[in-house]
Amino acid sequence: SMASPALLMRVVASAYSVAEKAATIVRNVMSAGDLGIVEKAGPNDLQTKADRLVQMSICASLARKFPKVTIIGEEELPSDDVSEDLIEDGHCEEILKKPCPAQYTGIKEEELVIWVDPLDGTKEYTEGLLDHVTVLIGIAYGGKAIAGVINQPYYNYEAGANAVLGRTIWGVLGMGAFGFQLTEAPAGKHIVVTTRSHSSALVNECITALNPDHVIRVGGAGNKIIQLIEGKASAYVFASPGCKKWDTCAPEAILHAVGGKITDIRGNSFQYNKEVKHMNSAGVLATLRNYDYYASRIPNTVKESLVP
Ligand code: AMP
Ligand code: MG
Ligand code: MG
Repeated sequence: SMASPALLMRVVASAYSVAEKAATIVRNVMSAGDLGIVEKAGPNDLQTKADRLVQMSICASLARKFPKVTIIGEEELPSDDVSEDLIEDGHCEEILKKPCPAQYTGIKEEELVIWVDPLDGTKEYTEGLLDHVTVLIGIAYGGKAIAGVINQPYYNYEAGANAVLGRTIWGVLGMGAFGFQLTEAPAGKHIVVTTRSHSSALVNECITALNPDHVIRVGGAGNKIIQLIEGKASAYVFASPGCKKWDTCAPEAILHAVGGKITDIRGNSFQYNKEVKHMNSAGVLATLRNYDYYASRIPNTVKESLVP
């Protein structure tokens, strides 16, 4: 008989289904019309009913199946009992059938850390920029992002009634990433994607120094990594604190699984062990190709302004 699938593949297969349930919650909260917006640090740091319900759904569903895994979610929520209708116990059979990369077959539950951003791009969600929104489930082992799921609940929402709404992208280091068409950015063009709602003088100074042909300003860390892997942008540049480990873990795993690179603005890799500081204080620099081109053009003055 077949050996039972490796823990990592079971976690990814479950995270896939949990993220699809999350996407349904995101869409249902919006269509019900009461977003329940709460300001956290201020008007550019929001939480909605969807952020709260989705985090409860993801964390409780994964904790029930994998009780020894450390799960860290963005939102601070009362640890009330989670309603049964928020629990997803399914998994993606197709993922479970794939062989686990050999270096990860021995992983134990207590060695995994799952970083959850229940709704990335909340500001844009509240403003109706629906395809900026993603649900991020990142899986870390040994301090490294090794697997991730990105659900985009409103993918195709402007494509007409016949188009399938929403999609789930997933990936594992050493295996690749799936659920999208890997596309190169236009050759010879420098297209920078950056924040839409968290700009600063330093963010703009850094972009200007790169002399890009075009700048795309959109919400969400997940969304910006999608822009890289689908060839819409050649670099994600954010010279500011603000992004947290739950914003970068799933995107990092997927980007690295297809040969890209993400670091802070100074070129340091991110760590995802459970004790790590949540804030990515020294910003984000990510590319699918030509990382060194962009890294070498970040001004030292910008690097020195951002302390890891
Ligand atoms: P953005 O590119 O502005 O959508 O930011 C990507 C992620 O980082 C989102 O989850 C934001 O909420 C978060 N983020 C970035 N900058 C800030 C900030 N100044 N305050 C709060 N959250 C931020
Ligand atoms: Mg986020
Ligand atoms: Mg969020």
